[in-house]
Amino acid sequence: MNQIKQTLRDKVVVVTGASRGIGRAAALALSAHSAKLVLVARDQSGLDSVVEHIEQAGGNAISVAADVSDFEQIQGAVQQGHTHFGRIDVLVNNAGIIDPIAKIANVDPSAWAKVLQVNTLGVFNGIRAVLPLMLNSGAGTIINMSSGAANGPLEGWSHYCASKAAAKMLTQSVHKEYASEGITAVGLSPGTVATDMMRSIKISGVNPVSQLDWQSHIEADDVGKAIVYLCTDAAQKYAGTDFSIKTPEGRAAVGLH
Ligand code: NAP
Repeated sequence: MNQIKQTLRDKVVVVTGASRGIGRAAALALSAHSAKLVLVARDQSGLDSVVEHIEQAGGNAISVAADVSDFEQIQGAVQQGHTHFGRIDVLVNNAGIIDPIAKIANVDPSAWAKVLQVNTLGVFNGIRAVLPLMLNSGAGTIINMSSGAANGPLEGWSHYCASKAAAKMLTQSVHKEYASEGITAVGLSPGTVATDMMRSIKISGVNPVSQLDWQSHIEADDVGKAIVYLCTDAAQKYAGTDFSIKTPEGRAAVGLH
């Protein structure tokens, strides 16, 4: 644990979707390991409460309200973080949506497109905003929140599955183009997690994931620990792939029981 603290001390990490759920848990875990945080989401009051929590615990974080589907907004947030802290070491591309859950013949086309704009274009926008800075400093880590949905279809989730499959390809593309220049790109597939997104899935009643017992979902804090792990050099062996904490090997690597 102390070694992780050394690795993350004074590293500057941008976390998107940091106002609640997995992003919030990641921000708190990273701060507990002495990282400096740039927190991004649309809801400023949600971000403010995370910053307050971090500052009360002696950490260092700023927040910038931005919509990841708009390149100018996420680039502005990254630049603000860079100006404030002087560097950007890690991007956690976590912001994501799943609603509306509906089969293809019934889904509203513009709402379907919005899921792609956040989950895929938003991931590209974050990468595009940080890469020039990371390449300039010769190092950087990009963690893209993936999902089992990247690998197979589920009823009512056509937008979500397509968006996560595309985001997985972006992880592989960054690895192919920039691993040789010091950039570590890795996906994280967490399994099912007890967050607002999972509450929405449960309410939909569509497909087997909505039928799962709530107790079977892991806590967002466990995913926060996996994100801390992926910020260390140990994660390099998973570069260009989706690291999973559903496997015994993945859980053991992170220290989850
Ligand atoms: P959540 O509780 O619904 O939180 C989603 C976060 O994304 C919020 O902070 C939200 O903040 C932010 N967000 C949404 N749209 C945004 C936008 N356009 N611009 C900026 N921020 C935006 O969801 P979660 O369960 O923590 O999910 C986080 C990530 O994990 C997602 O990528 C999701 O696909 C992935 N994931 C989740 C699960 C699971 O079981 N929960 C499983 C696999 C993968 P604002 O509303 O304030 O913008």
